[in-house]
Amino acid sequence: SQRVKIKALLQSQQTEIDVTVKGWVRTFRNNQFIALNDGSTNNNIQVVVDFENTDAALLKRITTGAAISVTGKLVASLGKGQTVEIKATEIEILGDSDPEKYPLQPKKHSLEFLREIAHLRFRTNTFGAIFRVRNSLAFAVHQFFQERGFVYLHTPVITASDAEGAGETFHVTNFDLDNIPKTDTGEIDFKQDFFGRPTNLTVSGQLEGELGAMALSDVYTFGPTFRAENSNTTRHLAEFWMIEPEVAFNDLADNMDLAEDMLKYVIRYALDKNADDIEFLTQRLQEEEKQKPQNERSEMTLLEKLQFCLNNDFERLTYTEAIDILKESTPNKKKKFQYPVEGWGTDLQSEHERYLVEKHFKKPVILTDYPKEIKAFYMRQNDDGKTVGAMDILFPGIGEIIGGSQREERLDKLEQRMDEMGIPKDELWWYLDTRRFGGCPHSGFGLGFERLVLFVTGMGNIRDVIPFPRFPKNAEF
Ligand code: ATP
Ligand code: MG
Ligand code: MG
Ligand code: MG
Repeated sequence: SQRVKIKALLQSQQTEIDVTVKGWVRTFRNNQFIALNDGSTNNNIQVVVDFENTDAALLKRITTGAAISVTGKLVASLGKGQTVEIKATEIEILGDSDPEKYPLQPKKHSLEFLREIAHLRFRTNTFGAIFRVRNSLAFAVHQFFQERGFVYLHTPVITASDAEGAGETFHVTNFDLDNIPKTDTGEIDFKQDFFGRPTNLTVSGQLEGELGAMALSDVYTFGPTFRAENSNTTRHLAEFWMIEPEVAFNDLADNMDLAEDMLKYVIRYALDKNADDIEFLTQRLQEEEKQKPQNERSEMTLLEKLQFCLNNDFERLTYTEAIDILKESTPNKKKKFQYPVEGWGTDLQSEHERYLVEKHFKKPVILTDYPKEIKAFYMRQNDDGKTVGAMDILFPGIGEIIGGSQREERLDKLEQRMDEMGIPKDELWWYLDTRRFGGCPHSGFGLGFERLVLFVTGMGNIRDVIPFPRFPKNAEF
């Protein structure tokens, strides 16, 4: 068929041409005006129906939610807010939608309600905009790395390693759950399982990414990651996508530069490519802000926030400096931090991170050189004996968006740290091999893709920026 996308038609300079569009009916007014949407943009095209010459039975089937095909003439529109419309000569119903049962009525629905009908929420303006922005960000991530000569390395989804030793893994098995083989001593006999050993879904592709970087120099992964953390927060999912570059011969400063460049590149790309969607989301957020008391309203609009992020250097400071700032701070006159800053050596809570970003520096922040006790075994040990070459990037409204580090390339130091932390060296023999044979300085980071989408769309809950969110007690569709 000669189907044309509605977005292209609305930008068309040409009128008085015959066109065919297909999409879903948003509204049908006075038996005459159809607002039709095909997901290419939030702007509907108006279809003018010649109702006197149209079969009454067909008119009845033009209901909200129905899929239709329209052929007609594209003409200049006299209507407010639209330049063109279609004078229909032929309308075909492709799929009926019972108006009594269709859950999406032409009114504003709450995000909570839409989360319960995640299979249909794509058809709303808000989610259309979110998923088009998400698509552009994903494309831009690939483009950024490809332009710089990185190799896209596919790391496994099923692995035998729990990269961080954090134990938040989903187990993978093909055992018959009613009949799990046991050893003589009554333990689960993993030798009889599919892989002959315990396996789990990946929590990070980093360790495998490092193996790639030790030959290809510049690699990145971009794939799904799984964490069985029972946290019902607005920032955590059980299944999320992570972007993990790993670069040989890079130190921590190079790593920070790469991360800041990448974030700015992909945000700029979406701002350019999805200007109309980001404008829509900005308006949406302004409406929401109006509901809040004056003193809680955001000082900047979404669009201003994004532009501000592009036009300013991220603030870089050490964890130790951040603790000093936090110890002297009270977030506002009345309230102290819910979790008091306990002093050097403890991990920051997201309220501390957001305080630094939103109140103290008022811009994105990169914190470096964390205490080794609160970071993973593979991070490079600093000469002070207390800290490691870690970096976390903190964003307004989000908190941690990136976690990264320079990796420990010195075999003796790495083995010593693994011993201290009780990480089994024999299981990670392949990882240690890269240090035995031409190990070199290298660094990398992990960017939580959904946290990036949260930032760029201005949404408040991570469950609203992934098509099919996975969280505790939720995996219906
Ligand atoms: P947090 O402190 O927010 O729990 P983390 O330090 O446990 O994050 P990392 O192991 O450093 O996370 O993972 C790298 C990045 O992946 C994080 O900076 C974040 O952007 C993202 N991320 C981590 N856990 C989740 C999750 N459960 N859902 C979505 N994104 C996540
Ligand atoms: Mg975590
Ligand atoms: Mg963290
Ligand atoms: Mg982290």
